[in-house]
Amino acid sequence: MRTPIFWILFLTFVGAFAAQVARRVQLIAAAPNTFSLQDLPFRVRRFVVDVIFQVQTIRERPLAGTMHALVFWGFVAFGLYTTVEFLHGLGIVDLRHTAWFDVYRVLLAPFAVAVLIGIGYLLFRRAFLRPVALGSHVSMESIVIALFISTLMMTFLLTFPLAEDTVAGRVNWWVHVLVILAFLALIPASKHFHLVLSPITVFLKSPELGNLPNLDFEKEQVGLETVKDLGSKSVLDAFTCVECGRCQVNCPAWGAGKALNPKTIVLQTQEALLAGARDKKLGEVYSEEVLWQCTTCGACENQCPVGIEHLPILIGSRRGLVSNGDAPDYLGSMYNNLERRSNIWGLGYDQRSKFVQSAGLETFDAAKHDVLVWLGCAGSFDADFQKSLRSLFDILRARRVSFGVLAKERCNGDPAKRTGNEYMFQELATSNIDDLKTAAPKKILTSCPHCVKTIGSDYRKFGYEVEVVHSSVFVDELTRDVRSASGQRSTVTFHDPCYLGRYGGHVDEPRALIARFGGDIKEPERNRDNPYCCGAGGGLLFADKEEEPGSRISDVRFKQLRATGAGTVVTACPFCSIMLKGAQASAQADVQFVDLMTFVKDRL
Ligand code: SF4
Ligand code: SF4
Repeated sequence: MRTPIFWILFLTFVGAFAAQVARRVQLIAAAPNTFSLQDLPFRVRRFVVDVIFQVQTIRERPLAGTMHALVFWGFVAFGLYTTVEFLHGLGIVDLRHTAWFDVYRVLLAPFAVAVLIGIGYLLFRRAFLRPVALGSHVSMESIVIALFISTLMMTFLLTFPLAEDTVAGRVNWWVHVLVILAFLALIPASKHFHLVLSPITVFLKSPELGNLPNLDFEKEQVGLETVKDLGSKSVLDAFTCVECGRCQVNCPAWGAGKALNPKTIVLQTQEALLAGARDKKLGEVYSEEVLWQCTTCGACENQCPVGIEHLPILIGSRRGLVSNGDAPDYLGSMYNNLERRSNIWGLGYDQRSKFVQSAGLETFDAAKHDVLVWLGCAGSFDADFQKSLRSLFDILRARRVSFGVLAKERCNGDPAKRTGNEYMFQELATSNIDDLKTAAPKKILTSCPHCVKTIGSDYRKFGYEVEVVHSSVFVDELTRDVRSASGQRSTVTFHDPCYLGRYGGHVDEPRALIARFGGDIKEPERNRDNPYCCGAGGGLLFADKEEEPGSRISDVRFKQLRATGAGTVVTACPFCSIMLKGAQASAQADVQFVDLMTFVKDRL
């Protein structure tokens, strides 16, 4: 009798599971294909590290992450046990009375205890500790799932004292399999669907943080306008979110009290997809205001333990808005500057020429110079940053590195790309690539992390590859044998730029330089590869600071830096420097700023 009843239950619950999964698979299949398997070895490595060893999950939240890992490893260990029990229940084959199964069952016991400890802690955390990232509301779904998992483990452990042919043993077996079936029917519509999807999502996540493939204008691509434009990876992501809130608590916009919350973006995507709102404008799904609040710092994607990519949605939607002429006014002025003068401030190129002349810079010649120094918009026009570049030139001359600059430079296009003006970005990028190909440098050196990312990484999508190095990395290597001339030491703090620390992973080189040249670093809250953004990225350098909702991101970061008690802030990006000095002026705080190159040069 057991077998037919079990078959009916099995087909009912598996059918419920399959129907819900099919709905989601349909939505993924209907979306434009954005899946890629490029760089397979990297993907396999990340799968092993982040899925099998759960490194990403544990890294930021060691205790909760370890408890989650115990549950995950337990699930994997129990996979075969569940299969054997179901094969038996369905009357297909009984493998339970074999020698290997007896050994396997005994080996599973410690896993069951580990899962009980893990799930117990996670339930306690959700119900009583209630971290802000999980939201104020304790969902019934989470409690039910936690109770299901606990029941599964306890009924497994009870198979040791309870003989299977007793009433208690049979009841125990039925409770175990029924909970599995109920669990199966429940998960596709819950955040626990990540159990199934996250290994796939992590594997399919782009190896490049903030990956924004070029739009193909010949195919009339204009960016994301409505729900049906969302790419297949974004649709998959929407069903994978585990609502852990790591993206939220690491988002500088959310941290400064703005409406943008990357977790909400993912959940709103899911809601719109399941509601079948294919033609709904993305500006209405998320609100346009929110879409323009992202600094593109990359913290959300970088922290997400299940491989979700937020920037293709955020920047893709900006592209859609820009193509319809719906960019905010401050961007309109910046675009005008880029269009008329090829730089973000719209200044005349005679100013750059004056700087080039006064700094004694030669035009780059591949036969004569070791490196091409890319000045960038800030280096070409910002007097403050030009002081830092002069320091870099002094260091290069002192260490006998020959260098030159391009006769003419345009903006690399980063502000256009990150604000969704892809057409303008491609115009700037292709013109710059033509000039760079003519100059043919083997290595480009720049003090701007945004130039490193754009020229070194985004230009590759046009087939142009060159080594682009940030000055902190280059000068660190160049001065390994040098120590501070004065021998004096001072306490400083260092602000990691997002595009250097998080995107580039260069967190040790600036610190090594500071330490060698007499600085003792007091680390601020949020540092190294998870810094708190200065608020300039994604075109927000140009936003009207008076009209910003919530606090200014730069003010929040400045407070964190000031809280270290160090009187000097070392910076390594022209835009961080502008934003943080603005915050310092508002706070009227007695804090010194020094660019990393000047810090080194003054002590060389
Ligand atoms: S990229 Fe940065 S600012 Fe934008 S949503 Fe993600 S965390 Fe927030
Ligand atoms: S997007 Fe990722 S980090 Fe954000 S809540 Fe979802 S799972 Fe967590």
